Amino acid sequence: MDDLQYGTRDKRGNWAPNKSLQIAPFWQGRWGKMGHFLVEYLWPWNAFHMAVTLIYWFLIIQPNIADFATWSWKWVAILYAINAGGIFVMYGSVEVFYYVKRIQGTRFKYNAKFPSENPSDVFWFKSQNLDNFLRSFFMSIPLWTLIQVFFFWCYANGYHAFAWLGWDQHWLWLVVLTLLVPAIHEVHFFCIHWLIHQQPLYKWIHSIHHNSINPSPWSSMSMHPVEGFFFFSEMLWHLLIPSNPIVALFQLNSTAYGAINGHIGFEKLEFDGEAGSKAMNSHAYAHYLHHKYFEVNYGGEGLVPLDKWFGTWHDGSKDADEQMKARFRAKKDRLKAKQAKATPAE
Ligand SMILES: [Zn+2]
Ligand SMILES: [Zn+2]
Repeated sequence: MDDLQYGTRDKRGNWAPNKSLQIAPFWQGRWGKMGHFLVEYLWPWNAFHMAVTLIYWFLIIQPNIADFATWSWKWVAILYAINAGGIFVMYGSVEVFYYVKRIQGTRFKYNAKFPSENPSDVFWFKSQNLDNFLRSFFMSIPLWTLIQVFFFWCYANGYHAFAWLGWDQHWLWLVVLTLLVPAIHEVHFFCIHWLIHQQPLYKWIHSIHHNSINPSPWSSMSMHPVEGFFFFSEMLWHLLIPSNPIVALFQLNSTAYGAINGHIGFEKLEFDGEAGSKAMNSHAYAHYLHHKYFEVNYGGEGLVPLDKWFGTWHDGSKDADEQMKARFRAKKDRLKAKQAKATPAE
């Protein structure tokens, strides 16, 4: 595909889309856009997370649910292998085709450089890829697995703040809750993410994730363990709201497998080369801008537009850039004034 029909490339080769980001159309009364929005909402990413969820539930967890009633390290090991294998295949495919083989070159790539071209001391072994990979597989995925096993231990023992609901009787609420899963994710992620951007939490915890200014698939789960715990514990909301384990598992899988979305680095992933026309939208731009500018877009793409409401939304436009710079200047001035107050002139 010709990426210049969809965006522009600057002197450094960085590509940016022509269209600025839009929050979900129902917030702005753009009802004509709802059809397109709903299709993108379901297909392909959430449909993929739901398919993965059904495989986990019907093939792995449900047949063995009795085993989860007592704490089982065997199941921690089995689920770790499955989670790690799933991420290795999914993230690894994007990595191999788009970052190693570079089948698409830099078409639709926001940052013209590839992380492997920039060795840096901030990373283990000076390699962003190796650092991000090791942190994902030896810290984040084990944490994800522990939370998952804890959750099913609660379920197998009947622990819930209110009630576990069955699909027969409560299908309507469970369908609504399933559709709300991405919104719950956005609110949860915005809150924990904003929190770990405040000092000293940023320095201690979140700066590790931000070492990857030019993120790639392996950056998605490259986090400090405290961040990993907050990130994956999103599933635990389903111990507090009347829910069902399948919906909870969908919440967890869209968090874990969906973490790649913000870190793909390309606006579109082509399937049939430069001359072809088949491509998939990555939905990566909002979070790419977060990695570029740090203090914007703490949430997602505006399904629940908390960034817009709190003044930290960056839609990629020049106007948003100006607003962001004005905000940064005001913050600097406030800090200066505070320092001047603390050390009065003699
Ligand atoms: Zn990120
Ligand atoms: Zn951040």
